[in-house]
Amino acid sequence: MCDRNDSKMRKTAGIYVHIPFCRSKCRYCDFTSYPSKLGFAEAYMACVYKEMKLRANELAGYAFSSVYFGGGTPSVIDAKLIAGALRQLKKYYAIAPDAEITVELNPESVTAEKLAVYKEAGANRFSVGMQAASDALLEELGRAHSVEGFRKAAKLLQTENFNADIMIGLKGQTLSDIDAAISLAAESGAKHISMYALTPEDGTPMYSDYLNGDLPDGDEVAEQYEYGRERLSVAGYRRYEVSNFAMPGYESRHNQNYWRRGEYIGFGVAASSFMAGRRFTNTRDLDDYIKCILSDHYPVVDDEKVEGQDAKFERVMLALRTVEGLELAAYKAEFGTEFEEDFAAPLKKNVPYLEKTYDGCIRIKDAFLFVQNHILLDFLV
Ligand code: SF4
Repeated sequence: MCDRNDSKMRKTAGIYVHIPFCRSKCRYCDFTSYPSKLGFAEAYMACVYKEMKLRANELAGYAFSSVYFGGGTPSVIDAKLIAGALRQLKKYYAIAPDAEITVELNPESVTAEKLAVYKEAGANRFSVGMQAASDALLEELGRAHSVEGFRKAAKLLQTENFNADIMIGLKGQTLSDIDAAISLAAESGAKHISMYALTPEDGTPMYSDYLNGDLPDGDEVAEQYEYGRERLSVAGYRRYEVSNFAMPGYESRHNQNYWRRGEYIGFGVAASSFMAGRRFTNTRDLDDYIKCILSDHYPVVDDEKVEGQDAKFERVMLALRTVEGLELAAYKAEFGTEFEEDFAAPLKKNVPYLEKTYDGCIRIKDAFLFVQNHILLDFLV
C-alpha cells in the first residue's frame, strides 16, 4: 500500500466541501443553502463521507495541498461532522502534512468549543462572514448577526489565521462605512480580508433594490473599491487578486490554486470540480444529491471537457484577475504556443491597460484591475 503522506511524484490539487445549511437566508444570496433543512445535516454529511470514499480510487494519484469547507455556513452544523469529514479525507486521500485547511464561519454560530473541535481535526485557517461594521447595513443584507456578534467571534479567533469577508456596493453605504469595516477587521486581527462588490442576482430579494435603482451604480462602486483598496494598503494588506488582500505570507493557497487553473475536487451538493481537463458540477438539489449517493452514483449534472481555445481563455481570464498576472513561460509550457501570438488582437487593443513585468508576466495595470471583466471580454476570441 502506498504511503499517503508521500506527496512526491503526485500531482497536487485542492479539495472543496460544500455545507449547504444556514441559519437564515440573506437577502442577496443565491448560493446553494437551505435555512430550513438543518435537520438533514447528519444524513447529508453521511452522504458527503460516502462521496469521498466513492472517488478515492480515481484520485489516488493526487496529493491535496488545501481543503476548504464552504457554504452555506459550515459552522452552523455540529463541529463533529466537519471533523468527521476531515477524518474521512485523511483516510482516503493523500492530504499534504502542511495542507491549508479552511473552515468558513458565521459570527452567529461560532463558539470556542466548535473552534477547538475544528483545530483538533486539523483546521488551520478560518474565514468569517463579517460583511459590514454597521448594524443597519447588516440588517439590510438580512445577515443573522450584529456587529457585536462579529466582535465576539473575532475575539475567539484573535490568535488564529483568519479571513474576514466585507462587502461594498450596498444600499446607502458610505465611504466611512467601508472605513469602519476595514478598521474593525484589521483591529480584530484578520490576516486576510476579502472585499467583494455585491452582485445583485436575479431571483433574490435584493434584486428589486437593484431594479429600483437603490444600489450604487458602477462608478460609485468603483470609487468605493478604490477607497477600500487604499485603506487596506495603508493597514498592511497587500492585494494579490482583485477582491483579495492579505498580510504578507497569508494569501489563500486554496484560492491561488483556482486562479492558476489548478485542479480541485468538490464534494457535496452544488460542488464544482476541475480534474483532468474536465469541469463538472454536482446537482444543486439536496434530495437528488442524497438519492444519487445512496445508490452509489456520482451526483454530477454538468460535465464538460475544456480544451483548445476555451482552455487558453480560462487560463488567461483566471491569471489576469491576479496581481502577479500570467506567466508567459508557464503558458507556453502548458499549451505549446505563445500567448502573445494566440491573443495578438486583444493585446493590441488593450495596450493602455496591460503591462509586462521584468520576470516575464503580463498583467493588468494596478489602476484597472477592478474593471478586468471589461478588458477580458476582448480576450474571448
Ligand atoms: S450566510 Fe452566506 S450562504 Fe448563508 S444565506 Fe447568507 S450569504 Fe447565503
